[in-house]
Amino acid sequence: SMASPALLMRVVASAYSVAEKAATIVRNVMAAGDLGIVEKTGANDLQTKADRLVQMSICASLARKFPKVTIIGEEDLPADEVNEELIEDGHSEEILKKTCPAQYTGIKEEELVIWVDPLDGTKEYTEGLLDHVTVLIGIAYGGKAIAGVINQPYYNYEAGADAVLGRTIWGVLGMGAFGFQLTEAPAGKHIIVTTRSHSSTLVNDCISALNPDSVIRVGGAGNKIIQLIEGKASAYVFASPGCKKWDTCAPEAILHAVGGKITDIHGNSFQYNKEVKHMNSAGVLATLRNYDYYASRIPNTVKQSLVP
Ligand code: AMP
Ligand code: MG
Ligand code: MG
Repeated sequence: SMASPALLMRVVASAYSVAEKAATIVRNVMAAGDLGIVEKTGANDLQTKADRLVQMSICASLARKFPKVTIIGEEDLPADEVNEELIEDGHSEEILKKTCPAQYTGIKEEELVIWVDPLDGTKEYTEGLLDHVTVLIGIAYGGKAIAGVINQPYYNYEAGADAVLGRTIWGVLGMGAFGFQLTEAPAGKHIIVTTRSHSSTLVNDCISALNPDSVIRVGGAGNKIIQLIEGKASAYVFASPGCKKWDTCAPEAILHAVGGKITDIHGNSFQYNKEVKHMNSAGVLATLRNYDYYASRIPNTVKQSLVP
């Protein structure tokens, strides 16, 4: 008989369904019209009812199935009982059927850390830029991002009523990433994707130093990694603190699964063990291809301003 699926594949298969439930909550909160906006550190750091409900849904659903896994979510929420309607207990059969990469078959629950950004791109969500929004579930082992799920609840929302709304992208290191069409950015062009709502002089000075052919300013770390893997941009450059481990974990796993690279602005890789500092203090540099071209052109003055 078949051996039972490896823990990692059971976690990814469940995270896939949990992320789809999350997307439904994101759409339902917007459709109901009361976003319940709360300012966290300021007007550019918001939390909505969707951020709160989705985090409860994801964390409670995964904790119920995998009680020994460490789950770290972005939002500070009271440890209340979670409404049963928020619990998702399904999983993707398709993912469960896939073979776990050999190096991950022995992983135990207590060795996994799951980083959850229930709604990435909240500022844009409140402004109706709905396709910037993603739900991020990143899975780390040994301090490394090894698997991830990115759900884009409003994918296709401008494509007409016949288009299927929303999609789920997932990936595992050593296996690849699925749910999208891997596309190279235009050859010989330097198209930079960066923040829309968290710009600064440093952010802009760094981009200028890279001599871009064009600059795309959109919300969300998840959304920007999608721009890279679908060939819309050649580099994600963010020379600023502000991005956190839950923003980069799932995107990193998916980008690395297809041969890309993400680091801070100095070229240091990110760590995702449960004790790590949440803030990515030294910014983000990510590409699908030609990482060295961009890394070698980050000005020293920019590097000196960003302490890891
Ligand atoms: P952005 O590219 O501006 O959408 O940022 C990507 C992620 O990092 C989002 O989750 C933002 O909320 C977060 N982020 C970036 N900069 C800041 C900041 N200055 N304050 C709070 N969150 C930030
Ligand atoms: Mg975020
Ligand atoms: Mg968020």
